[in-house]
Amino acid sequence: MRLVLASANPHKAREIRAVLEAAAPWVDLLARPAGVPDVVEDGETLLDNARLKARALVSATGEAAVADDTGLEVDALGGAPGVRTARFAGEGATDADNVVKLLAELEGLAPTRRSARFRAVALVAFPDGRELAAEGVVEGRITDAPRGSAGFGYDPVFVPTEGDGRTLAELAESGPEAKHAVSHRGRSLRALASQLAALHT
Ligand code: IMP
Repeated sequence: MRLVLASANPHKAREIRAVLEAAAPWVDLLARPAGVPDVVEDGETLLDNARLKARALVSATGEAAVADDTGLEVDALGGAPGVRTARFAGEGATDADNVVKLLAELEGLAPTRRSARFRAVALVAFPDGRELAAEGVVEGRITDAPRGSAGFGYDPVFVPTEGDGRTLAELAESGPEAKHAVSHRGRSLRALASQLAALHT
């Protein structure tokens, strides 16, 4: 099965490739062609945005495409930033800007009030209009300072509940698969791979 990778973010593209190589080795994952313009992610849900990204690549290439969209939900912020996670510190915000803003908003909050989760929706869109989608969630909490040098985005400030207290960025230092084993992206893509396997056989 041939799928074009819709993500323009090199960190995400690397993670999607690694997870799918393990979970769906029969998928031939094609790189996103250079020259396809970035999609405006203005959907109201993660599913909408994953669909926008995948459909843009189907239109550009005529091939089936895989995309994911991620949101960080912080309970003390009423579930924000959610679908606005990439733009939390404003349009064009960098990962570092977003982390600084998040830590500032939560400053002084006790660890018990810093609960959060990453939610990802992974989606495959086919040229005939069909699609498959799956969600993955990792529960955790936001630290009061960044820790760890691997991973990307909010990884240095997110500690998964089912781990040993290390942030996702620290976990990824010991090998990317340590992050993928628990991450929202790992979970959504493994669930998607099972759905694809049902089509494939
Ligand atoms: P998007 O899914 O590319 O729209 O990403 C939304 C936002 O979440 C961006 O700010 C990313 O940096 C961040 N993000 C996405 N995936 C991860 C992850 O696995 N760890 C930490 N941050 C992430």
